[in-house]
Amino acid sequence: MQVPLLDLKAQYAPLKEETMKAVSEVFDSQYFIMGPKVKEFEEAMEKYTGAKHALGVSSGTDALLLALMALGIGAGDEVITTPYTFFATAGSIARTGATPVFVDIDPVTFNINANQIEAKVTEKTKAILPVHLYGQCADMDVIRAVAKKHGLFIIEDGAQAIGAKYKGEQAGTMGTVGCFSFFPSKNLGGAGDGGLVTTNDDEVFEKLEKMRVHGMHPKYYHKYIGGNFRLDALQAVVLSVKLPHLNDWHEGRRKNAAFYSKAFENCKNIITPKEMAGNYMIFNQYIVRVPNRDKVFAGLKEAGIGCDIYYPVSLHMQECFAYLGYKKGAFPESEKAASETLALPIYAELTDEQKQYVADTLIKLVEG
Ligand SMILES: *Cc1c(COP(=O)(O)O)cnc(C)c1O
Repeated sequence: MQVPLLDLKAQYAPLKEETMKAVSEVFDSQYFIMGPKVKEFEEAMEKYTGAKHALGVSSGTDALLLALMALGIGAGDEVITTPYTFFATAGSIARTGATPVFVDIDPVTFNINANQIEAKVTEKTKAILPVHLYGQCADMDVIRAVAKKHGLFIIEDGAQAIGAKYKGEQAGTMGTVGCFSFFPSKNLGGAGDGGLVTTNDDEVFEKLEKMRVHGMHPKYYHKYIGGNFRLDALQAVVLSVKLPHLNDWHEGRRKNAAFYSKAFENCKNIITPKEMAGNYMIFNQYIVRVPNRDKVFAGLKEAGIGCDIYYPVSLHMQECFAYLGYKKGAFPESEKAASETLALPIYAELTDEQKQYVADTLIKLVEG
């Protein structure tokens, strides 16, 4: 049996006709960049997230970069974040000229250890940038308390967490700016690159909106230095077709997660994800910790099961961040997670047979 890590064809099949019709309309209009289709999608995203403002942008990475730029973060500033995330989180901070300051993760949720943030605040700190990793929100009560006490912005990296909830609040609406990605492997994936920023702050919105198009307003008059962070109409219509199904896909992933967690219940060597009290996790990834991870990883691949490692190298150990001066051992939980974790197929369209096969194979590989 073959079980890919992600099968987007299964998701696309029932939506093909509607998607092609929407795409065809964009071609007929020849209106490709921004315009009414992007606006429509942004309004739908405002409704979905509950944020006052939502702006379509060119990618999740650009969402982060634009958010940092709009908040005036740059050289001489520090931004506190996690070293256990996709590169773009810290990469975007560095690209503004600011310094990423890492805080180790909580070993249970893999999110930034909120209780260790305050110790890293200095007079240069401008923002906290938590990541809602794998689809579960970071500990926002503590993060908000620290931000409030020290007058810091919060930029949420919700690239893996669209629709995730924390004590009833939506990911991307709990800080100053929320950032999302529509990379095809996210729970809401486009037909290429795309992203979104959200905010409840009118002044921040004004800057985000202008800086998305070179800080330009009116045409050819530039109040700020922005960039080209625009979303294509083609992406907007593809995403608009998918959005009404997003909550069902979340539920499908949650059911699959429950299936695996039950199957692994009696295997003490397989540590399964834990949804924290008050959270609604959307399982962009289902991550287990296993002993001999690299051997298990190879075994799964050999058995025809798609799996991957998110992420094999903690960001403080990346070559390009050597200038930050962190040494091996600086963030033990992050480094440990990088050597123990493994992502299993979790997409909503998995069949019962596929799930059973994944579970049986993993148990056999781990328990011998
Ligand atoms: C995917 C991802 C990004 C970047 O999104 P792109 O759309 O690929 O640029 C940023 N942060 C995290 C945590 C991600 O998973």
